[in-house]
Amino acid sequence: MGELGTPGADRAHQLAQLEGKTWDLLVIGGGITGAGVAQQAARRGWKVLLLEQRDFAWGTSSRSSKLVHGGLRYLKEGDIKTTLHSVQERQRLMREAPELIEPQSFLFATCKGRKPARWLFQTGLAIYDLMARHKNHFWADTARAQSLAPGLAPPGLQGALVFTDAKTDDARLVLRVLMEAQRDGATVLNYVAARELLFDKGLVSGIQAVDVQTGQTYQIRARSVVNATGAWTDKLRAAVGGKPMLRPLRGSHLVVPFWRLPVPQSVSMMHPRDGRPVFLYPWEGATLVGTTDLDHRTDPNTEASITSNEVDYLLEAVNDQFPTAVLTAADISACYSGVRPVVDDGSGNTSKAARDHVVLDESGLISLAGGKLTTFRLMAQDALQLAARYAEKPFARDDSAVFTSANPLNPRWSSAVQHRLKARYGYQAALWCRHASNEDLSTIPGTRTLWLELVVAAQHESVEHLDDLLLRRTRLGILLPRGGLDHLPRIRQLCEAHLAWGDARWTTELARYQALIDRHYSVPSHTQQDKATAP
Ligand SMILES: Cc1cc2nc3c(=O)[nH]c(=O)nc-3n(C[C@H](O)[C@H](O)[C@H](O)COP(=O)(O)OP(=O)(O)OC[C@H]3O[C@@H](n4cnc5c(N)ncnc54)[C@H](O)[C@@H]3O)c2cc1C
Repeated sequence: MGELGTPGADRAHQLAQLEGKTWDLLVIGGGITGAGVAQQAARRGWKVLLLEQRDFAWGTSSRSSKLVHGGLRYLKEGDIKTTLHSVQERQRLMREAPELIEPQSFLFATCKGRKPARWLFQTGLAIYDLMARHKNHFWADTARAQSLAPGLAPPGLQGALVFTDAKTDDARLVLRVLMEAQRDGATVLNYVAARELLFDKGLVSGIQAVDVQTGQTYQIRARSVVNATGAWTDKLRAAVGGKPMLRPLRGSHLVVPFWRLPVPQSVSMMHPRDGRPVFLYPWEGATLVGTTDLDHRTDPNTEASITSNEVDYLLEAVNDQFPTAVLTAADISACYSGVRPVVDDGSGNTSKAARDHVVLDESGLISLAGGKLTTFRLMAQDALQLAARYAEKPFARDDSAVFTSANPLNPRWSSAVQHRLKARYGYQAALWCRHASNEDLSTIPGTRTLWLELVVAAQHESVEHLDDLLLRRTRLGILLPRGGLDHLPRIRQLCEAHLAWGDARWTTELARYQALIDRHYSVPSHTQQDKATAP
């Protein structure tokens, strides 16, 4: 049982175990889908290996809207099954990990002459509540709506429907699920890529993998192999003759300092230009605005970036709802983009492309794609149902808890601190945080992140690069201007002993991180053109 690992010794030990045995299950991809499959299999006693080519949650699973939601928009599209499963899973996750998956109140302003009509939205919410088995929405007249969302004044405002969904930290959700997998004996490694599939009598029997840090290759044997590579799914499927099935869609977000757009709750809206759903909400002390939905044909190995047209589109939506905010690109502290691994329904309509998942068995390669953060447990069980035959393991669907509860923390710590540490480290919180000083438990200016979180990450959470630390273990890279680099001296001082990088390595990491922030997390210049994919 363990931790994600300290860089160095733990990693070397894990790498040394890759060959020379046959794993029951090899999972390729360390996003929420792969993490869920590894966790569900490990809990059933399978010998599991999970490999991620970059960092855990490096793909879409750290770049989502961070909602653990029932998917009202899917209800609108008539997709009752996806909505029902999502609502049930949302309720379960909030029960099991209440610190990590928290309720989020939403407000949807109803405006004269704009769709959807109040009765239609209200009907949707009534169905939504029925699925969750408790009433969770109400109507607020204009005055009340404006008291709930000061500054809200879209043209023709009549009032608002207020309802509740849930939110999380997506990258931390992946890490928590991986920790649970490890607790049940799974080996999980970042920066190890599946390069080629290996076959035995025409069936997939393992992979050739490469440690991308050193170039060392490994021949890994496994009875069953799950391809959980999100937007990359079709790449591995090509080796078993699979025809492309994904339609990669880019979605981008803006991060704005909370004081500049102080929304006490989420405001959901239809974009005035094209009627697409857009929302803004308070997250980790900032305000997030998202999202777009655009065909994205770029190689998935190149990080997706927001375009200036997307920035304008999102700003237009905010300023329509909050005209006095006059939000401009200069207010944005960071942007991020992710690629939805959406299964192509051939409709040609991006917002309507099917969001439910598919699971396929092609010559023993089980591919699992589509879906959402919210439904990872159900998706995993679908994949294991097919994998069980190859793994030669019995398999039955069950409803056992994903998360192990946390042990009590130091009662002298504030409840907010305890809440935060339990959310992030679950059953490891008491152990990993036991030596924390008052100084460690203070927050990094401009955020709710504790200085301790950097130390824990460096010590226990397989940090291989500075961007792992600042973009996924903590979210300082998107919460602070300039990727949080203003705090670099203190960050280095706290993490140095655990990362053992030395001066030259810190210089390289800094250059790599700076380039990443400039290119993929900053507001693009308005000279940049992307007319082909603009909304
Ligand atoms: C803008 C946006 C907003 C969203 N909002 C929400 C939301 O609010 N709520 C919700 O529930 N869902 C949301 N989603 C959907 C959700 O984020 C995705 O469905 C989910 O994150 C996909 O997870 P995944 O594990 O399948 O893919 P990824 O997270 O992309 O993971 C796949 C991983 O596989 C790795 N990989 C690829 N090839 C290899 C290889 N050869 N070897 C090893 N590793 C490999 C990649 O590096 C990657 O990390 C959103 C998606 C987007 C884009």
